[in-house]
Parts: sequence; structure tokens; C-alpha cells
Amino acid sequence: MTKSHYLLNILVNALPMLSSNTNIELLVDYDGASLGAYSEEGTSLTCALSEEPLVDIDYEIHDYNLHFNFGLSNHSEEHKQIKVIIQQTDKKPIPDAIWSSTSPSNCFLESKVEVTKCPAGYAFTVDLPPMSKRYFSNTMWKPLKNITLKFDEYVKSNYIHKLNYGKSVLGHDLNAFTLYSKRNEKLPLICISSGIHPAEGDTISTVAITEWLLNEGNHHNSAFDFMIIPVLNPDGFISGKNGCNHNGVNFFWDFQKYNIQACPEAHYLWNLFQTSPPNIYIDFHSYTTQGQSKQFGPYLKNPVLYTSKNTRHISLELSKELEKIPNSRSQILLSPASLPYNMTKEFNTITFAKYHLHQGYGINHMRDLSVEVIEKIIKSSYGCDFTTQILQPYGPLKRTFNEIIKQTLYVQRYYLPKKLKRLLEKH
Ligand SMILES: [Zn+2]
Repeated sequence: MTKSHYLLNILVNALPMLSSNTNIELLVDYDGASLGAYSEEGTSLTCALSEEPLVDIDYEIHDYNLHFNFGLSNHSEEHKQIKVIIQQTDKKPIPDAIWSSTSPSNCFLESKVEVTKCPAGYAFTVDLPPMSKRYFSNTMWKPLKNITLKFDEYVKSNYIHKLNYGKSVLGHDLNAFTLYSKRNEKLPLICISSGIHPAEGDTISTVAITEWLLNEGNHHNSAFDFMIIPVLNPDGFISGKNGCNHNGVNFFWDFQKYNIQACPEAHYLWNLFQTSPPNIYIDFHSYTTQGQSKQFGPYLKNPVLYTSKNTRHISLELSKELEKIPNSRSQILLSPASLPYNMTKEFNTITFAKYHLHQGYGINHMRDLSVEVIEKIIKSSYGCDFTTQILQPYGPLKRTFNEIIKQTLYVQRYYLPKKLKRLLEKH
């Protein structure tokens, strides 16, 4: 029996709305589906979350195993209700919302389904109209095809240019989109990306920003070159990954730029940046099920990590501007194995390692916030001198002795408590 043809036998009158025997089919055989082991009992479906390897890097462990994505098909002529129980440990957040769709090819929308805590984890009950299919997730799921079609439309209309920079593990195209036909080295390059952690729904940012840059924000194209990478991890969208590529590499944290076998997505992205090093790089992410424990905002970098006084000054100005967004909360991140750290070390790129949106604020807020973030970055970049920030052509960055010492000390001081904690845990 395959997963997709697994049939749930529904007992008579187990829930008030059920009036006869019927079969409900569990659907997990589509792009983006994600579910661990499951079992049924009466009208209850109990599921574990799908498990990806934990990221253990830079003395920290990151667990992205938070999300599910599956469908239910009601083969009967009657309205049905199914109680879904998601098993998880107490430490993991309980989602505020369940997102759903009538097709796995559409973006999931927030439903009115209520989620309650239960001993196994959490539970919710879904309605299934007669002869219907419904798809459910605890995140704002956006299918790859949907995003690809959108960007292909922009390309067809000649608004933007597609730049294929490599292939993923499964052979999917890795595409960047530029608002220029040829890179003008005299203009600063701003690169904006999303879609490295497929379950986060953060591609909403790059779509909103691209639309803005093609309309109200269009005049900025004469002062800056823009590169947009909406999906850094296409395979993850196909195989329903929370944070990893097809080989289980979470390449946001563990950017294996020289490992073409395990992580071609990182390798080719690094090649792309070596050809066109961005002056500013921002990568959008989103909180999903974390609720009020998290707040939207940027990951910032200590200016000491930048080379040259001028670049440190620009980075501070941009950070200050982003921190002005009401209710946002910034965090300092240092993660030497991550892409943004590597970019600053190699190219002196000013990076915002992550800008976290928050699904709890809704689709419109996520869209508007993404555009606001880019507007703020652009507006405070006017008048800044980027001419000496990035080496052109790309080559080894020249740091002063003072900068090397300060940067090394900063990294060591940041890691000392983490290293000690790890050592103590081992003994
Ligand atoms: Zn993320």
C-alpha cells in the first residue's frame, strides 16, 4: 500500500457530523508534501512531523523540523470532519493558524480552523465537503511552480532578465533575475534573496519587491543595479523540506560553497557572487509557528567585521534605518559558516543575514514590510560612496593590520562562551 493510497477507515458516528461509513484518503504524493509517520483511529489522524537533519554548526544547533503539509480527500457524498493530532515535544511552538488550499498548486491561505494544545502536541479539526480534496499546512505554503510562473511572466514582458547560474541536486535551474541587461560596475549592486528555507513562505518578499521595483520604485533603477533570487533552494520546495536541500544540507547556516556534490546550490551561488559581488545583500526569511515569542526584524552584523571606515559607516547607517521600523526587533548574528559572513569576509558586502518577516502579522504586513525594508535601504544608500567598498575586479580584500586584529578578536570573543559551553557539555 503506498502512502498516497492509504485509506482511513472512518467509524460510524464517531463525530456528530458523520452519519455513515466512508473512506478518507491521505494525500502526500505532491510537490511540497511533508509528513512523518502517521496512524488513524476512528476519525482521528495522528501524525509526526517529517524529520530533517539538525544543523550543528558554529557551536549551535538549529532545529527546523516544525512544519507539515498534506492533503485529505473525501470520497463520500457526505460532509466529513477529521481530527488531526500533530505529535511534537513541548519545546516546539504551537501554531496560531492552519493554512489550507483546495489544490497543492495554489498558495495556501489562512483558515479559521482552531488549534488546541493536547498531550501529544496539538490538534485541530478540519471540514471536508462531499467529494472534495483539501490541503493543510501550519505554514503559509507557496508552491515552487507558482513563484516560477510569476517570474517567467516578468521575463516574458521584458521587464527583467533571467540569469541561470547553475543546477540544483535534482537538476532544477537556479535562477537569478536582474533589472539590468548588463551589469553597470559604476552602480552599486543590491541583491535580494528568499526561498532558502522552503516552509517559511518568505518568497512573498521577493515577489512584492520585484513588483514594486517595476512600478512605483522603478526610478531607483537608474541609481542601483538590482538582482533578485526568489528561490535559493528549489529542490526543498519539491521534496517539502523545512530548511535543507535535497541532500539534507541547511545551506543558510552551513554554506558549503566548495561542495558541488552535496550542495550545488551553495557552490553555484558563490560562483555567481564571485562574478558579481553585491554591495548590499539581504536575505528574507519568516517566522511561521513561533507566535509572540518572536518579532519581525533584521539580523545585523557588528561593523567591526567590515573593511574600511566608509563601509562601516554605511553599514551602521543602514542598520539604524532598519531599526526605525516600528515594532521590529533586531538581533546581532555571527555565524562564520553562513553565506552572509562569507560574503563580508570575501567581498566586503554589507549583509543583512536575515530579515525575518512574521506570518502572524498576515500576508499584507509581510508584503508591505518587505517593500518598506528595501525602500529604507535604498533611500539611505543614496549619497553613500560605494566606489571603494568592493574590489573590482574581484580579488583578495586588503585589510589593515588593525582591522585584521579587531576582526579576529571580535570573532574569538563572540565564540568563547559558546566553545566553553560545548566543552562542558561533553564532559
Ligand atoms: Zn529561514
